[in-house]
Amino acid sequence: MHFIIENVWVTEQLTIAQVYVALLPSYNLRPGQHGTFRLVWTLIRTADPWVLPSLSLAPGKDFILAQNVVIIGSGPAAWTAAIYAARANLNPLVIEGQNIQEHYDRGRPPLGQLALTTEVENYPGFPFGHMQSFLESAIDEKQRYLLTPDPGTDQKYSVTGPNLVLLMKQQALNFGIRVIADDVVDIDTGSRPLKVQAEEGDWHETHAIIVATGASANYLGLESENRYKNKGVSACAVCDGALPRFREKPLVVVGGGDSAVEEADYLSKFASTVYLVHRRDKLRASKIMAQRAEDNPKIDIVWNHVVDEVLGNDQDGVTGVRLDSTADESSHKLDIAGFFLAIGHTPNTEFLKDKLELNEKGYLKWTVPFRTNTSVEGIFAAGDVSDDYYRQAVTAAGTGCMAALDAERWLASQGI
Ligand code: NAP
Repeated sequence: MHFIIENVWVTEQLTIAQVYVALLPSYNLRPGQHGTFRLVWTLIRTADPWVLPSLSLAPGKDFILAQNVVIIGSGPAAWTAAIYAARANLNPLVIEGQNIQEHYDRGRPPLGQLALTTEVENYPGFPFGHMQSFLESAIDEKQRYLLTPDPGTDQKYSVTGPNLVLLMKQQALNFGIRVIADDVVDIDTGSRPLKVQAEEGDWHETHAIIVATGASANYLGLESENRYKNKGVSACAVCDGALPRFREKPLVVVGGGDSAVEEADYLSKFASTVYLVHRRDKLRASKIMAQRAEDNPKIDIVWNHVVDEVLGNDQDGVTGVRLDSTADESSHKLDIAGFFLAIGHTPNTEFLKDKLELNEKGYLKWTVPFRTNTSVEGIFAAGDVSDDYYRQAVTAAGTGCMAALDAERWLASQGI
């Protein structure tokens, strides 16, 4: 594993001499020149923000580089924390997760839940307009493959979820942050510096951690639902809705919240009919979204029903769904080609169990009112992983900012 310190690539485990030699060019120094003493002194003191990340000394051994702050996540909370931490000269390391199909299947895509949404109309600063030229001017060419397709040069539209979070990532990258595309599987809070383990096996030492791992989309847990994943069952309309198998076909969306309405509305652009199956007789969605569902002629709301079974076969995938009434004993079948879930989320905190205090729903607890502190000193939480109430992109970004400021102040209080 390699790190960049002040734009110099160095290995994780180094002698002081190696770190010294690696850093010299960044400070325009040659060995022995006036100024190198300060560099050596900084390395030894380990606490001077002039060298970032700072170094922790294992007595009698090599130096192990410890990060100032590791940010875990890749949504609005993570990138906002990265922007603030970078601007505070903390040289953050972001571990953003792997970009693999399994994560999409589990409702946990890279770039977070925003990557699963369509147009975002309520993120301040992004009104309906001509987005494409702005996106192309702002986002580095290498990142643009993740952009959602341009609907047409003359068409005005709101920023999409994936594009919005890509802009956030680009903004953080512009400040020179370092990013590792791996999943964090464990943290060690038993010693200082803290340690974060990535799936590939590397442990990263760090003085502070910001957890911004968000939440994953829920599934019903039916065996038949699992059988037809990627064959007509999806928790992401925006990822899969435009596939030929769904075009001009009847589809089901399960759920009654904002996400369900948003997905149904999006799918109605491709589908012949979208059945919005909800277990009660009133939508949980906000008034404006509920009205949108009721006004859309292609959305048929199936009130007071739950899904008993997803029907299909190996060749065609999903062909139907059997619904049970919650109001009486009746059940009926609907012929459909696609089955989309929008029934809420579960926080991504499995790797933190027994390490940090969680609430009864598994969300990370903030232990100080109006601060992002968790139950372990030096670990902060931001975004949906610690929010089962607001769960908005803008609140995630806001708490990402708070976590970076909390981490910065905590590090300063520790002399780091
Ligand atoms: P949500 O508000 O928690 O809604 C989940 C829906 O799924 C509820 O209607 C719930 O039914 C239903 N549900 C849960 N478990 C179920 C089960 N096992 N079987 C059948 N139905 C089940 O989740 P969300 O819609 O993902 O929204 C999360 C947050 O993001 C909200 O704060 C929302 O406002 C926000 N959001 C905003 C926008 C926007 O503003 N454009 C878009 C998307 C999301 P009950 O109603 O009966 O509990």
